[in-house]
Amino acid sequence: MKEAMPQVFPKTRHRFCMWHIMTKVGEKVGGKLAKDEKFRKELNAIVWDKTLGREEYEIQWNTLMTEYSLEEHKWFKQMYEIRSSWIEAYYNDVFMRGLMRTTSRSESENGLFGDCINTHGTLLEFFTQFESAIEMQRHNQARLVAECETSYPPMKTPLQIEKHASSLYTNTIFYDIQTEILEGSFSCKISRKEQATDHVLYTIQEGKKKSFTVQYYKENETVRCSCGKFTRVGILCRHAFAVLKDDDAEVIPAKYIIPRWTRNACAHNRANGDIQQGGSDNTEREEKRLTAKLWSEFYSCIALSQANTSEMQEMLD
Ligand SMILES: [Zn+2]
Repeated sequence: MKEAMPQVFPKTRHRFCMWHIMTKVGEKVGGKLAKDEKFRKELNAIVWDKTLGREEYEIQWNTLMTEYSLEEHKWFKQMYEIRSSWIEAYYNDVFMRGLMRTTSRSESENGLFGDCINTHGTLLEFFTQFESAIEMQRHNQARLVAECETSYPPMKTPLQIEKHASSLYTNTIFYDIQTEILEGSFSCKISRKEQATDHVLYTIQEGKKKSFTVQYYKENETVRCSCGKFTRVGILCRHAFAVLKDDDAEVIPAKYIIPRWTRNACAHNRANGDIQQGGSDNTEREEKRLTAKLWSEFYSCIALSQANTSEMQEMLD
């Protein structure tokens, strides 16, 4: 795959699965070390730390190898040599949109179909079971969309930016962002603030041990943090929120709003982008419910007539 990938997908960065590599640790180190909780914990802390830079990773990895006399261990040596193919720090310039654990995704699909499909069945049985598995997923999707359209998560700060986030993102993503806003407000401190020619350079202290630098270009609403969370996941980090809060920003800058995380990405059946806190009275709520339903029916009709131009024309008429 490593040879074929750059030829077939020249613009793609191929990455090895961390999960698969890490599941091999036990078998590779064998015996005593495999059962050593402390070793496992220390190794995991290095490998899975999303905020570790390349240099820090290399220092920590090598220190651990020395501590457990694994410097000459064939497998660990090899894993270190190919570190740029699986360690997070070497991918922090690639926009991953949170897709860090592709295995858990494919495995969960695998699990879903595995539960519904009988491997010894006939082709016909397979097809029926496959259809019901898909139907189940569609049902889940519809449920999540409906939940997102009718419920609004409670705010945890009086900040306008939090309200803005809740109106933009799906509930699931909003909870992640809410955590970042909260942490940015309560566990991050500005330890230094310097005015450079075209931006302000912040040093953000998170807890006692971690420190990050954030460049803030107010003019073009750019906020760049050294932790690289936005590039990895597609949502702003707590350090960026600490800076935005310091500047009294009320909205998330447009360039940091990734459409795929927004309510509009899945909920087509919305009359307009105005998503204020639920309707104040019954008529308003009823109107909203009917509008949502109408849009949903409308989209179903479009889907039914799609690929058939005469039907589409008829519908348009
Ligand atoms: Zn950050």
